[in-house]
Amino acid sequence: MTGHQTSFLQELLGMSHSSTIAKPKLSRKIRVAVNRQKIARFSARRLCFYKKYASLVQKTLKRPLFQRFLRWMLMRESIEKHRVKDIQVRVLPFLKNNGNTLAGRCNRRGEIILYPKRLASCRRLESKFGKKSAFLYIKSRARAALVHELLHLKYSSNEDKVRRLTEKYLKIFTRGARNVRNPQMHNVLKILFPN
Ligand SMILES: [Zn+2]
Repeated sequence: MTGHQTSFLQELLGMSHSSTIAKPKLSRKIRVAVNRQKIARFSARRLCFYKKYASLVQKTLKRPLFQRFLRWMLMRESIEKHRVKDIQVRVLPFLKNNGNTLAGRCNRRGEIILYPKRLASCRRLESKFGKKSAFLYIKSRARAALVHELLHLKYSSNEDKVRRLTEKYLKIFTRGARNVRNPQMHNVLKILFPN
C-alpha cells in the first residue's frame, strides 16, 4: 500500500516537468449525455439540479490531477487506454428495482456510463453532514464510480475484487491530493466505503 502511494506521489512531484507529455486522451472521452425520453418525468427544478450535478461531475473527472492519477492506475493495472471507448456522464439518475440508484455501468465495448445520486438523497446528506460534505461526496462518488468501471474492464464480473481495489485506489488518490486532512473527507469515505 505504502509503495503504491509513494509512486503516485512521485508521479505528482513530476507534474511540473510534464508539459511536454501529451494530454491523456481519457479526458476527451468524458461527455455529458441525457436520455431525452426521461426528461418529461422531471420537473424543471429537478432538471436544473441534475444538470448542475452532471457538469460538476464532468469537471471533477477531467481535472488534470485526477486524470494523471487515472493514467497511473491504468498503467499499474495494465489496462490499455484504448479499451475505453466512451465515458458518459448521464444527467438523470438510474433507479434499480430495489429503489437504489446505480452509480455506473460498463459493457464489453468499453462504454462506461455514470449516473448521479438522486436529489432526495443529496438533500438528506446535506442536512446530516452539511453542504461541504455533500459537495465532496458527489465528487468522490463520481471518481469512485469511474475507477470502479475502469477496473471492471479488467476484472469483469469479479465484483469483490473491483470493490476492494476501488476503495484502495480512491484512498491513494485522496492522500495524494492531500484531501485526507479535510475533516469532511473522513465522513465521505465512510459513506462510500462503509465496511
Ligand atoms: Zn461493479
